[in-house]
Amino acid sequence: MNIPKSHPRFVSLSIREKIVKGYNDGLVAKEGLLAHGRGEAFDYLVGEKTTKVARYAIKAAAAKLLSAENPVISVNGNVAALCPKEIVQLAKAANAKIEVNLFYHDESRKKKIEKSLKKAGAKQVLGMNPRSYRKIGGLDSPRRIIDKDGIFVADVVLVPLEDGDRTEALKKMGKDVITFDLNPLSRTAQMADITIVDNVIRGMRLLVSACKKSKTAKNNFNNKKSLSSAISEIKNNLKRRGSLA
Ligand code: ATP
Ligand code: MG
Repeated sequence: MNIPKSHPRFVSLSIREKIVKGYNDGLVAKEGLLAHGRGEAFDYLVGEKTTKVARYAIKAAAAKLLSAENPVISVNGNVAALCPKEIVQLAKAANAKIEVNLFYHDESRKKKIEKSLKKAGAKQVLGMNPRSYRKIGGLDSPRRIIDKDGIFVADVVLVPLEDGDRTEALKKMGKDVITFDLNPLSRTAQMADITIVDNVIRGMRLLVSACKKSKTAKNNFNNKKSLSSAISEIKNNLKRRGSLA
């Protein structure tokens, strides 16, 4: 669809087109389209821009990734459709591995995602070899597969747009979890160590820049406080628009 630039919702609609293209190209699951819709709704409430709170979380995430021994970026269909180049840039900047990890496990979709990441410049993509599969405890079978050279041995895992159960399982395995999640109330947002409440399409770019700066000092990040600030920002936004007098 050709969206005119003058359309007041041009940016949001263009992002939606990317997800639809990802679906048509076989990268995104049907359910991923719905998850995107939930994200869109929260982006609307956040004001469709990167907030101050999100910037602070991005700084903390960069410091965590740069100080990790073995950081891994977990990629699902939506992330591959929205920001493949940024994933590759982040992997380089943070010296992190890339692993394809799907909630709705599907070998052919995985291969398409791998191909798109390689096209974006990725040298190595984990999660592709069944001989390397390991299992996370406490989850039903297809959802629990991870790579023995990737998430299985990682100390820090970036899981953008992840499901709550899997985030909890990763925490139980002792991983430090960073996520992008526009919904500050989701279980993933609440359970992660660092939640960046921002659209992955905006925030991932900023995370790459933060990782490229050689001096990324640790800040006093506290996820509970950060999430409650994110919720306050939503409340203030609603007040400003007159929806909550
Ligand atoms: P949880 O399982 O953590 O409670 P959920 O079941 O509500 O969350 P899922 O579908 O499991 O939702 O996870 C997708 C999450 O990703 C949602 O919270 C959604 O708001 C968020 N999301 C969707 N698209 C984006 C995006 N482009 N950027 C950031 N977050 C997004
Ligand atoms: Mg969920």
